[in-house]
Amino acid sequence: METGRTFQAQDMAKVYCEKCNGCGDCCHGMSDTIHLDPYDVDQLSKGLGLAPQELFRDVIALHADGGMILPHLHMLPDPDWKPAAAPASSANIPGARAAAAAMGLRVVDDMEGSMAPDAQTNPGVCRFLKEDGRCAIHAFRPGFCRLFPLGRDYDADTRTFRYFIVDNGCPMPGKMKVRISKWLGVPNLTRYERYISDWHYFCREVQAKIASLDELNPDGTAVRGSFTEKLTAFILQVFYLTPYDPSRDFYELFDLRLAEARKVL
Ligand code: SF4
Ligand code: SF4
Repeated sequence: METGRTFQAQDMAKVYCEKCNGCGDCCHGMSDTIHLDPYDVDQLSKGLGLAPQELFRDVIALHADGGMILPHLHMLPDPDWKPAAAPASSANIPGARAAAAAMGLRVVDDMEGSMAPDAQTNPGVCRFLKEDGRCAIHAFRPGFCRLFPLGRDYDADTRTFRYFIVDNGCPMPGKMKVRISKWLGVPNLTRYERYISDWHYFCREVQAKIASLDELNPDGTAVRGSFTEKLTAFILQVFYLTPYDPSRDFYELFDLRLAEARKVL
């Protein structure tokens, strides 16, 4: 395992699981960790033939991240789950959650309402995992799924990122080297990587803005104001819920929305 090393898209890395037996372990137990960026939701929308608003009813749930409310793939309860394996769930941020709920979005913690109360932290299994252990949406699966077992290591100075191999990846021994660009299988990867960086640093800017506006209760918990609620709702609406015209370039439309959103910050 090449842990500790970082890679660029043209580098080779030992990520291909030659002996993959379709156990499906890599699609179990993710809880709210398959975060979705706007490109992911656009791909899911077009691939499944569902409007973004419809995806948010069931396929997508929302989690708190640095004061923002952002989407992730909503898992189904895993019938084989054992309580000792449950990770910590994400924190609630009442103001931002209220903003999303006010837009008619179903704001849920993973598994809420779908399991008995003492088992609500079941980290779940992906609804798109087929009986044979393969992915039903392989052609338009989210970026986090494309990456596995890679992660991204961001450099704030250059506003770029490099790839690294995650320690807790697939347990199967015998990985083969493959070029990372081929592994990701994303069209126009250079443009995609620029978009990923732009989105990442825009979210950091929003989170910094939210933190600067926070007031603290005596117990140290954050009090969110109405601007935070409006900002959260605005970002969900502009980047996720408003469909991207399929006859136009996604990145061109994203850049236009990003420019508009920056004016609000
Ligand atoms: S955990 Fe490894 S062996 Fe199992 S399905 Fe995923 S890649 Fe294949
Ligand atoms: S979308 Fe596909 S690859 Fe991603 S977790 Fe679900 S089944 Fe696995």
